[in-house]
Amino acid sequence: MITFHEIADRVYLATEPMLRVNVTLVVGDGQALVIDTLSIDDHARQLLEGVRTVTPYPLTLVNTHHHFDHSFGNAVLSADGAPIWGHETAARHLRERGPVLQRGWYEEALPSDLAFADALGRVTIVPPGHTFHTESTLDVGGRAVTLRHLGLGHTDGDLVAEIPDAAVVVAGDLIEEGAAPGFGDAYPISWPDTLAGLLALVGPSTRVVPGHGTVVDLGFVRAQHDELTALSWLIREGHRDGADPAQVAAKASLTRFGERGLIEAQHAVTRGFLELDAAL
Ligand SMILES: [Zn+2]
Repeated sequence: MITFHEIADRVYLATEPMLRVNVTLVVGDGQALVIDTLSIDDHARQLLEGVRTVTPYPLTLVNTHHHFDHSFGNAVLSADGAPIWGHETAARHLRERGPVLQRGWYEEALPSDLAFADALGRVTIVPPGHTFHTESTLDVGGRAVTLRHLGLGHTDGDLVAEIPDAAVVVAGDLIEEGAAPGFGDAYPISWPDTLAGLLALVGPSTRVVPGHGTVVDLGFVRAQHDELTALSWLIREGHRDGADPAQVAAKASLTRFGERGLIEAQHAVTRGFLELDAAL
């Protein structure tokens, strides 16, 4: 079972131990909302078990973006017909490219974890059936939860969920704690502007739930905004000078996260160059 703890008034957080993915549970009067659904059926079942220790209420689901670790639990969690919300672009990725993406993630997991890869390959993809373009506010048993798409960032279909009555903002993988942000599908030149939009929602006492890792605050979001801004300028300069992408990546501060950080920096430079060429 995946265990929740309360981080604000009737807002609960659970962190899946393997990939440190965060799931946020918001409980209102007679209804509850689960933000992100984890990866494989087994994790999703453990998540549902954890949810049911907190609330018996009918669920609405949200995916912060289309990546498997945030959306592949949809089938298990929506088995009783729970509606699923996501940004229109995230939903489109899962609807139109789901099996291709699934194959890629299966192959990525295969060398390190055969059982996990196998389980990923068996997931039934269920795309969000409820989508929005810029903003949509849900009524979760009398509590407002606002979903916003703030622009291109970790993907082209990220959403952030704001629970204003609890001063909580769920940022998905637009914010990453304890590891390098993921750039495999990212828009490194636009991401800082999107984080500026996120910063406008964060006050001194706001709790910000990152896609992975521990809950962070305004200072952390500012620092990540600064780091991604510096990275975007490093990429712009490298692009202007016609520099070798590998050499640009080696200069990125993300290399402080070791080998994984260097890989993400390389993705960032490759994707950033394409973004600057208007080729993404
Ligand atoms: Zn992601």
